[in-house]
Amino acid sequence: MKFLSSDLLEGRGPATRGGDLATEYIATQFALAGLKPGGDNGSYFQSVPLIGITTEASARLAATKEGTANDGVATEFKWADEFVGVNERQTTEDQFEAEVVFVGHGIVAPEYQWNDFKDADVRGKVLMLFTNEPASSDPKFFGGRALTNYGRWTYKNEQATRKGAVGVIIIHTTPTAGYGWEVVRNAWSREQLFVKLPPGGQALALAGWLTQQAGEKLLSMAGHHLDEMLKAAESRDFRPIPLGIRIRASMPSRVRAIETRNVAGLVTGSDAKLKSEVVIYSAHWDHFGIGTPVNGDAIYNGAVDNATGCGILMELAHGWSAQTKKPRRSALFLAVAAEESQRRGSEYYATHPEIPTGKTAVAINYDRLVPFGRTRDVVVNGAERTTAWPVVEAAAKRMSLTIKPDPRPEQGRYYRTDHISFARVGIPAFSVEEGDDFIGKPKGFGAKAFEEDNNLHYHRPSDEFQESWDFSGLAEMARFGFLIGIDVANQDRLPTWRAGDEFLAAREKSGVR
Ligand SMILES: [Zn+2]
Repeated sequence: MKFLSSDLLEGRGPATRGGDLATEYIATQFALAGLKPGGDNGSYFQSVPLIGITTEASARLAATKEGTANDGVATEFKWADEFVGVNERQTTEDQFEAEVVFVGHGIVAPEYQWNDFKDADVRGKVLMLFTNEPASSDPKFFGGRALTNYGRWTYKNEQATRKGAVGVIIIHTTPTAGYGWEVVRNAWSREQLFVKLPPGGQALALAGWLTQQAGEKLLSMAGHHLDEMLKAAESRDFRPIPLGIRIRASMPSRVRAIETRNVAGLVTGSDAKLKSEVVIYSAHWDHFGIGTPVNGDAIYNGAVDNATGCGILMELAHGWSAQTKKPRRSALFLAVAAEESQRRGSEYYATHPEIPTGKTAVAINYDRLVPFGRTRDVVVNGAERTTAWPVVEAAAKRMSLTIKPDPRPEQGRYYRTDHISFARVGIPAFSVEEGDDFIGKPKGFGAKAFEEDNNLHYHRPSDEFQESWDFSGLAEMARFGFLIGIDVANQDRLPTWRAGDEFLAAREKSGVR
């Protein structure tokens, strides 16, 4: 972990020298541990071809009321201050003009009898919507308080693409998004990485966001108000509302092809039949590389995020391979690329798997663990939604760990790291992280330490290795995941999602019943 987060590795950006050094190092550790190559063409690498898109600051977005002359007064929105966005068509120039339709939350969820689109044809339209999902306290309706996949902006954009829309504009509000405008602006004004579109593939010419104020301004041009629209979006009877507004957008972009890679090592199982199936362990190796300096330091070392997970992954590989009697199923150790860029490395693996998803038992992920010592508790959000849950509970019991429920389910943390890529193709998947009840520390120490790491070091150059760190808790979390993996690898049946879960259909589609 100390090596991976050293300045020598230059922050491990995808497709940079530092990133190549990191992946070469992890592959070498896998080889030393006795793992077989699990990647392309008998290598330890799966190449991940991506397209990088940076929207130029000269991007323009303007709204005109329909029925006024074309040269009438257009309301212009300011890049970064009022709107951000990207042209997902992966071309350098895209201009378009289209009608705006407000589609509420933009959700089609038959299992909740919810369809914001009804029978409206939105082909060629710009869809305006809110992120998030209908409010609920009933766990059977949109997960109750917890955010489901339907509430994530990624889902909205995909749904709009399927419906043939030309663009999406999400009106940002801090409560619906769960974070402030700076977070949106910072994330969207740098280069975005995408898996290359297949020939003829559908994509949005604008996947964008407007500030609450700008959204209010646009809605008021159509004689509507934000509050009224938020309220309308909460109803099952909601119907798309054509706003009588035309959007003109110009999205000049810098586009480049980049090649990064996932690292994959395999330990073959002992059962003649079950060894064709795998348990996956994953951790992302990438971080932000060299970027905007903060206090004179431009290297985003990513020690906690996520050299910690990589260290655990390499130790798990070592431990699994060293077992004299191997578990029945095989194990695939996967260090994935580009988590910090919308999890493209794990997305690429999940959609181009080296082992079919229907032969993958579970994916156990490690991302951003804090080396502050041992805890009495562990967090495994999402594991309770899978049939691997009894195994998880048993492992916790054996290690005298308390399973701590997600303290803030409404923030949708489950949807923000690599395991989600696996879940979306049906693989039961979750991350293992420590709780906040630290042994030998005063009450409240954990919450305070997490907050401090979040406010001072998270995604900043100061996320650096500290000699004072105590790694005993990370070892504990590694052992916990190890026990779960072994038990799942030895079970007769492949785990799946519980009845009613949003990912069950994908699991069944992959052939697991
Ligand atoms: Zn991160």
